[in-house]
Amino acid sequence: SAAAATVEEPIIPQVQIDHNQLLIDGQFVDAASGKTFPTFDPRTGDVIANVAEGDSEDVNRAVSAARKAFDEGPWPRMTAYERSRIMYRFADLLEKHNDTIAALETWDNGKPYEQAAKVEIPMVTRVFRYYAGWADKIHGLTAPADGPYHVQTLHEPIGVAGQIIPWNFPLVIYSWKVGPALASGNTVVLKTAEQTPLSALYVSNLFHEAGLPPGVLNVVTGFGPTAGAALCKHMDVDKLAFTGSSGTGKRVMAFAAESNMKPVTLELGGKSPFIVCKDGDVDAAVEAAHTALFFNQGQCCCAGSRTFVHESIYDEFVEKAKARALKRVVGDPFKSGVEQGPQIDSMQFEKILSYIRSGIESGATLESGGQRSGSKGYYIQPTVFSNVQDDMLIAKDEIFGPVQSILKFKDLDEVIRRANATPYGLAAGVFTQNLEYAHTLSRALRAGTVWINCYDVFDAAIPFGGYKMSGQGRVRGAYSLSNYLQVKAVVTALKNPAW
Ligand code: NAD
Repeated sequence: SAAAATVEEPIIPQVQIDHNQLLIDGQFVDAASGKTFPTFDPRTGDVIANVAEGDSEDVNRAVSAARKAFDEGPWPRMTAYERSRIMYRFADLLEKHNDTIAALETWDNGKPYEQAAKVEIPMVTRVFRYYAGWADKIHGLTAPADGPYHVQTLHEPIGVAGQIIPWNFPLVIYSWKVGPALASGNTVVLKTAEQTPLSALYVSNLFHEAGLPPGVLNVVTGFGPTAGAALCKHMDVDKLAFTGSSGTGKRVMAFAAESNMKPVTLELGGKSPFIVCKDGDVDAAVEAAHTALFFNQGQCCCAGSRTFVHESIYDEFVEKAKARALKRVVGDPFKSGVEQGPQIDSMQFEKILSYIRSGIESGATLESGGQRSGSKGYYIQPTVFSNVQDDMLIAKDEIFGPVQSILKFKDLDEVIRRANATPYGLAAGVFTQNLEYAHTLSRALRAGTVWINCYDVFDAAIPFGGYKMSGQGRVRGAYSLSNYLQVKAVVTALKNPAW
């Protein structure tokens, strides 16, 4: 049967918008210009709230608050244990407010409420507990030297971290950024995505309720070319972390280079291969490949957006992938059982539809979907293309929508070459029972994550990041702490060489 494509009357979430201003030095304040911008409900295109539109003057205020909280304390000078306890208390508050936060996230972003409430917000809580646990376990080493010296390293916070996040996982990515930065004693100015400012404001208020001192975490809502660029160029920002498109990532690096050469970590786009070998469990692979692509309306940097299937099982796989896509439940994300809500905004909606047209025009076979779903909001039918060729636009560009492209391969060397023939390298999936295939592919694929017989397994402790134009550095896990630490070598001469 065709997907349940009707969009019923929207449910109005029982959530008030308490915070729509900038959070600077522990206070909610208007933008210096007094300007605001609307944030929209992707189910309808209606305005949810007007939010303060921060610009360079607001970024200056936020950076100076963060600077003061770093230079004069208390944050980096508190004991690590005290920092850790504040972060744990914050995690407890996240847990307590889980459903309200999830509702805000769904309202502003369009993702299924059940996904936000049962997976994402609990993950955010888990990430903050993980980094709270790290706060008092960060320390340097001693090192040997060829001479009478005592050598030690101190791991120190870098200073003021500027962080810019996207709209697809507003709070999950917030936690990946803010968690390690604060655990290691830095202070933060965070710019939210213009599409999804609400949840970060709400939870950052809870962070202060948990005892976070003013100025340690400042949130500027606003646009990229204004507030975002001002943050990147700021001479008093010591480090930048960005998640978003590769194009903007390039700009962020250039701004850093042109200003004070602040170090940059980037988590960018992808065109990740999902490889199903001839011995792979077809039913399990169909389901995993479906989720790998369609999860979060296809708006995932690590979406498995090139499904490579061995020729011996190709036809069976395509039939089953099509049947699964036709069963996908599209509708109001607040309704129980809905798997797919609307895309984030009209721009992404139009862009995805134009990629679908391009797929058809370039000769790929449209197996399912291909059109908008309903007549209101930004819903798109789960779309599957077979007979996709490597040189088609739909096989090369990051579509960031519910469009699965299924490609055929014959042997391992060929699929390795084709899977790697992309400027991206974020993630890859492999479905096989053959150890030789699994290990060969996981070594040969140029990607920051390889999931074997699974996909989208995220954990606070698993590092995540990209090769090539998918980024620099790693988020999550112990690895991400090093993005926020300076290593200082302290060398002390000893009088008595004998000891
Ligand atoms: P974007 O990269 O432009 O936006 C991400 C963040 O960067 C937002 O906070 C935005 O305000 C900010 N930004 C934009 N221009 C900036 C600038 N000049 N200086 C500083 N900050 C700036 O992404 P988008 O326009 O929202 O989406 C476009 C495409 O990006 C999507 O279609 C998708 O392919 C990709 N994307 C990837 C991810 C990811 O997780 N890797 C997330 C969102 C979007």
